[in-house]
Amino acid sequence: MSRRYKLEPYSGPQSRYRCPKCEKSRCFTRYIDEDGNYLNETVGRCNHESSCGYHYPPKQFFQDSTNYTYTSHEHKKSHNKMEQQINTIDILK
Ligand SMILES: [Zn+2]
Repeated sequence: MSRRYKLEPYSGPQSRYRCPKCEKSRCFTRYIDEDGNYLNETVGRCNHESSCGYHYPPKQFFQDSTNYTYTSHEHKKSHNKMEQQINTIDILK
């Protein structure tokens, strides 16, 4: 159950967000998972390390929250896969 998360690579101003702590725009880097899905909007790191210092790593986030929406997203994904398999079986009949 261990996934790898990383800070989103810089791909232009649109890849930088408003920091939830100091509320400055385009200074906040969010974490993404292996598939490029964003974690919660509060999970990330602020560029203003000296003045703000906000850093909320995924590990900390998962410790804080057992009710994460990503889990339900994963369930939905596997459900769709199951539906696809059922459709395939129908075709084979
Ligand atoms: Zn900040």
